[in-house]
Amino acid sequence: MEKETGAIRLQAERSHYREHSVPLYLTSSFVFEDAEQARAVFAEEEQGQVYSRYANPNVDELLQKMCYLEKAEDGFAFASGMGAIFGSLGALLQSGDHVLACRSLFGSTHQLLTNIFPKWGISYSYADASKPEEWENLITPATKLILIETPSNPGLELIDMEWLGELKRKRNLLLIVDNCFATPVLQNPTDFGADLVLHSATKYIDGQGRVLGGIAVGTKELIAQIRYFARHTGPAMSPFNAWVLSKSLETLQLRVEKHCENALKLAEALEGNPALEKVNYPFLPSFPQYELAKKQMRQGGGIVTLEVKGGYDAAKRFIDNLKMASISANLGDTRTIVTHPASTTHSKLKEEERAATGITPGLVRVSVGLESIEDIIEDVTQALEAV
Ligand SMILES: *Cc1c(COP(=O)(O)O)cnc(C)c1O
Repeated sequence: MEKETGAIRLQAERSHYREHSVPLYLTSSFVFEDAEQARAVFAEEEQGQVYSRYANPNVDELLQKMCYLEKAEDGFAFASGMGAIFGSLGALLQSGDHVLACRSLFGSTHQLLTNIFPKWGISYSYADASKPEEWENLITPATKLILIETPSNPGLELIDMEWLGELKRKRNLLLIVDNCFATPVLQNPTDFGADLVLHSATKYIDGQGRVLGGIAVGTKELIAQIRYFARHTGPAMSPFNAWVLSKSLETLQLRVEKHCENALKLAEALEGNPALEKVNYPFLPSFPQYELAKKQMRQGGGIVTLEVKGGYDAAKRFIDNLKMASISANLGDTRTIVTHPASTTHSKLKEEERAATGITPGLVRVSVGLESIEDIIEDVTQALEAV
């Protein structure tokens, strides 16, 4: 089966009602035929549902599709993307371990590494995506895993996964990739040797700004450790959210292709606009890592970032002049969304931390939606004129 087909045709087992679309299994627990079956299921001698903190038919269906799309052996679903990142790292790391991560990380992931894990004796180092020679020198005997985002949020920095896959094999480390921005439609980190792939399903996987969700998929061995940790700490995804997200996967390919098409057209239309210092989009030939983007991504993604001339004041004026685009912190929605990272999603970072990851006062992130591209271009250009 091709990916599009799997995302539609992999379904929870049909009930005796012969439903076509999979129903919502809104139940916290499952009943047993008799005491012996209860014993056997708990002892894992017999397969079966027990309790929705462990598993649920809707959650299992979503995971089956995600494993298929990400070419992974097994998975676990969490209540949010951060739940997936914390639950996975929490399961795999112990006191004394060291994490090597790319410097451009999602704001809350940065808080995890810099403020939360150090409380439990877990240390970290940041490496720059643009300086591959740096990475190997930062590996210590305590280094357990490498954690990256590519493209990064909001800097759109890319990391060469083929190179990193070789490094992790050579140094016998685990490689974990937050694949939220690219989605499995644009790249599969497992092709390059990633052991674990993480998603905020809240973004493109839902794609309509409705529910939170997080996914971890990877090798059987790692997921077994993550499942044990998550079952006993309780960050499970609700069956309702899993049902919504599984339905959303049926259109993921279509939506992501259209997001990419609109984003490229917007980026091309804005290049050279006198109100802008720079337009960043991985599939624009002017993008510093254009060659790498072409090598490892099928399309450029749905995010364009704009460097507005005149810093924060000009960026604010641009945002306030938009007539259609929403001002919100989400991304990957059908609606075009603008975010000013320096004053919102990345405001908790120190000034020099923002500077190191390219988050300047004039940077605006545009999550290009699925409205007509003519309307999107019209809205953004009129708002830039007003600046
Ligand atoms: C949004 C996001 C997260 C966190 O996901 P939530 O579902 O909001 O918890 C993690 N990583 C990246 C790259 C994100 O964009």
